[in-house]
Amino acid sequence: MATLRRSLAIDLGTASVLVYVKGRGVVLNEPSVVAMDAFTGKILAVGSKAKKMLGRTPGNIIATRPMKDGVIADYNSTEKMLKYFIEKSIGKSLIRPDVIICVPSQITPVQKRAVLQASRKAGANRTYLIEEPLAAAIGSGIDISDPGGHMIIDIGGGTTDVAVIAMGSIVINKSINIAGDELDEAIMSYIKNKYNMLIGERTAEDIKISLSDVEDIQNTDKLFEIRGRSLINGLPMQVFVTPLDVLEALESPINEIINACYYVLDKTPPEIASDLFEKGAIMTGGGSLVKGLSQRIMDRIGIDVKVSEEAISAVVKGTGKALSWISKLESDNQSYEDARRQILEEKQRLRRSY
Ligand code: ADP
Ligand code: MG
Repeated sequence: MATLRRSLAIDLGTASVLVYVKGRGVVLNEPSVVAMDAFTGKILAVGSKAKKMLGRTPGNIIATRPMKDGVIADYNSTEKMLKYFIEKSIGKSLIRPDVIICVPSQITPVQKRAVLQASRKAGANRTYLIEEPLAAAIGSGIDISDPGGHMIIDIGGGTTDVAVIAMGSIVINKSINIAGDELDEAIMSYIKNKYNMLIGERTAEDIKISLSDVEDIQNTDKLFEIRGRSLINGLPMQVFVTPLDVLEALESPINEIINACYYVLDKTPPEIASDLFEKGAIMTGGGSLVKGLSQRIMDRIGIDVKVSEEAISAVVKGTGKALSWISKLESDNQSYEDARRQILEEKQRLRRSY
């Protein structure tokens, strides 16, 4: 019998939330920001509307990000945000949807439970969890049951996750709290030190993102106009910087990201490391779109690094593909590992029978 129950995949990120609906694809991509009344705690806006309020809200409204470093930092806001996004994606319905959410691979059991509970309270029927690097790999078109190793570098807003996966499992991974946000901060402090000028986070992020439009960072006569406030006399001022200046400003956080890659490569078993030479690494997450970043990483770690064609939506699409496993999953989360193993075994049996 056909079921009326909808199934959703959610990428609950620090910077943005994406929702994938089975049969419809990615239906929502909004910032994970909630604006509330500071006195009553009432939620005033969620997502894109709330992001516009960040940094420029009057005294009684606070705009915050309920997720921090990939996990729930503010439980109540996360629950309300999820509820809003679920309803926005599939409308209000009496039949609760089944939901699969991706979580960082280093998440603790308590943090996992918080995600499961928030999802239930937000209106989900059953909730399953999948580890983000696996979702990123599936969404980038990698066959994760492949016994050879694959390296995934996911650079989000709050965290960078570097993982090597093989045979459907994470072999080794490293998560650091240096990602898109730190790149913005690095631009802010570069401008402050070099020009004695203060700029806001939004401005810094805009400059970082506009790097994407520069064809050749080394050889361009493009200049970015940056406006802010002088630290000397407090007056509005503007300066012009080159794309190469911006990349130079990002040096320190980029080095930290490269160090995380070194750490993972250093701990990777030699057999798998040799696969990586052949297959290279895939980058996902909004931060991977920083122009010149994949090249820098490639130059330093010595293996090919490609930005996923679906950098921003790879995780939610991979999570969405895992939806097809849902029928194999029994209860909340616990059986996910078993179901995955069962699917891998089935695949291998199929291969052997050729
Ligand atoms: P999360 O998974 O933590 O929610 P995302 O994968 O959505 O994060 O990535 C968010 C980060 O990506 C932010 O820091 C944002 O500024 C950055 N970002 C998004 N688009 C671009 C782009 N075109 N160039 C550079 N950075 C980008
Ligand atoms: Mg992410």
